[in-house]
Amino acid sequence: MATEKKYALVSGGSRGIGRAIALQLAKDLNYNILLTYFKQKEAAEEVVKEIKELNLHAEALQIDVSQRDATRKALNHWQTENSNNTIEVLVNNAGIRNDGLFVWQKDEAWDSVLATNLDGFYNLTQTLVEPMLKAKFGRIINIVSLSGEKGNAGQVNYSAAKAGVIGATKALAQEIAKRKVTVNAVAPGFIKTDMTQNLNEKELKKTIPANRFGTPEEVADLVSFLASEKANYITGQVIHINGGIYS
Ligand code: NDP
Repeated sequence: MATEKKYALVSGGSRGIGRAIALQLAKDLNYNILLTYFKQKEAAEEVVKEIKELNLHAEALQIDVSQRDATRKALNHWQTENSNNTIEVLVNNAGIRNDGLFVWQKDEAWDSVLATNLDGFYNLTQTLVEPMLKAKFGRIINIVSLSGEKGNAGQVNYSAAKAGVIGATKALAQEIAKRKVTVNAVAPGFIKTDMTQNLNEKELKKTIPANRFGTPEEVADLVSFLASEKANYITGQVIHINGGIYS
């Protein structure tokens, strides 16, 4: 029988913050990586290649996390094919924004942002939590946002979705702490990725005490700490990483 392999699953691991997290979990904690992507297959395969160069297993699954049945089907299939392997760490990172003033909000912008950011959390987590409880160890780390705590004009949909995930984080943490499965949220401020590339960084950075946007690697270091055994007693928390813009 093949030896058991331990995996971390990072949704939206093809780019930006998710890519940095996938690499960091492999480098720091020796996790094999299962990453999901939506449209950018080539970028996902590039990350898989980089992780394999570390002599770890890595694979990329195409999953639209907003689609419940398809997400469950893909994960259940992977688990059946990998009955000897376990997913110890789940990082719910896949996310989108579609900004605009609420008064003119199109239904599609509300629905898609809620479906990807909030339902996406549910669709992945509800499928993967049970094996963690049985194993009596697990880490669920949800990438939320400053907008989910502070609220942000022009982002009513995104703020609502991220606030929903924050509430779920706190409640689920209380349900499963006894089983040594921790649930935490990481709330970044402005981080340099594709998602923020159309923002006016020169102007916005004046509002940030650290006077710069953060990097995906800085977020990944925090996630890696939360995934490690050093963070055994941290659960139900929202940890901000934002250069001092909000506390
Ligand atoms: P990017 O736009 O750079 O990357 C988004 C990732 O999510 C990609 O891997 C993309 O896949 C994936 N994705 C998008 N939609 C879906 C979907 N329906 N199903 C599955 N995967 C999907 O974003 P960031 O790296 O900047 O953001 C990552 C997370 O961090 C998000 O949750 C975001 O809300 C949050 N965040 C980001 C901040 C920032 O300043 N950048 C600030 C606060 C929070 P593909 O490559 O295939 O398109």
